[in-house]
Amino acid sequence: MRCEVIAVGTELLLGQIVDTNSSWIGEQLALAGIDTHYQTKVGDNTDRIAASIELALSRSDAIIMCGGLGPTQDDITRDVIAAVMGVELVRDDMIAERIRAMFETRGRKMPQNNLRQADVPEGVSTIAQMPGTAPGLVCPVGDQVIYAVPGVPSEMRTMMKGTIIPDLQARSGETAVIGSRVLRTWGHSESGLAEMLGPRIAELDEGGHATLAFLASGAEGLKVRVTAKAEDDAALLAILDAEEILLRDVLGDLVFGLDDDTMESVTLQLLADKDMTLGVFEQATGGYLSSRLAGQAASDTVFLGSLIAGNPALADQLIGGGPADPEEAADLYAEAARSQLGADVGLAVGAATPGDRGGLNVAVAWVMGDRGKSWSLSLPGDLDRMRQFSGITLLNDLRLHLT
Ligand code: ATP
Ligand code: MG
Repeated sequence: MRCEVIAVGTELLLGQIVDTNSSWIGEQLALAGIDTHYQTKVGDNTDRIAASIELALSRSDAIIMCGGLGPTQDDITRDVIAAVMGVELVRDDMIAERIRAMFETRGRKMPQNNLRQADVPEGVSTIAQMPGTAPGLVCPVGDQVIYAVPGVPSEMRTMMKGTIIPDLQARSGETAVIGSRVLRTWGHSESGLAEMLGPRIAELDEGGHATLAFLASGAEGLKVRVTAKAEDDAALLAILDAEEILLRDVLGDLVFGLDDDTMESVTLQLLADKDMTLGVFEQATGGYLSSRLAGQAASDTVFLGSLIAGNPALADQLIGGGPADPEEAADLYAEAARSQLGADVGLAVGAATPGDRGGLNVAVAWVMGDRGKSWSLSLPGDLDRMRQFSGITLLNDLRLHLT
């Protein structure tokens, strides 16, 4: 089963909207075990949309079109599909009624234009999920099929999950499930990880049930993604579990979490497990670390708060003096966060100073019980990168100490 995606909208070509729909659809097709070899973007133009559909029909079994289903004159996807199918548009009275009712319940007068959305190519079926007003379409073309969904991402996703993916799977007779698990790592380069995992990758290449891929994700670390295909969910889970154990054996504590885990969610969870609270001091990072910590579920019980002092004189005042050495200062900042905020653990990011070759140096520290550590990071890149990497590196060190 080969399926391709056509995203419709001139604004996509002009760079006014990023075509995130196609990326998301591509990912979902891959997870469902359906091949996609092409993705097209085309403007709101009848001839060019028709040409894109004809080309896609010449090489694929199914097409998913998104966008251009709305009520305005430039929403022409349904008209072009009808033309390609060689059928007329006919008004679907039930959809028309639903659109009228929707306007009525909102107490608004319906512009006549909106009934355009109730016009569907003859012989097609509409997609049941209708979060908005524009219905999705399932249009048979011989033994091929064209699906049309609205451009609005939430509506598109609902219809993909509820109708299109199951329909594609039923058509392809594919019953295998594909799934993946991401091991989140911090502290090693991509080439370093590739070297560590080289032997395992070679084994899998020779006939394993899974594949491995690396994804460098900046301050989110390096992701190692395991993807596997199996007869059913239970078999898939067994493969992913077994592979995770093997990989953790090799990678050890470089692995800080799985899938949607983040460094801050993992660290806060470790603190929560130990019934400990956290206070933070930030100078160079200006609140970046705190805002990441505050975004976590239940963070308010663990992460008590922060002292944010961008101004050096204020920072000095908070620790009752002005020590010379940045690492010593970072240590006192962490201590101040802990004592002044009444937390069990104090974290600190001190001032940034220019480093070698355009980078930045920044001192960081943590204190906990009668232990503590303060050290200097030399980070390449600009202020933004320094903000991200210093905070995450500091959290990672605390994580390693907690485990
Ligand atoms: P509507 O009924 O809202 O007019 P539509 O099917 O006509 O829906 P469009 O008008 O093409 O869809 O797009 C509606 C909105 O959906 C766009 O303003 C944009 O925010 C979003 N959108 C459209 N296409 C994409 C895409 N390919 N990727 C991400 N977002 C998109
Ligand atoms: Mg529109």
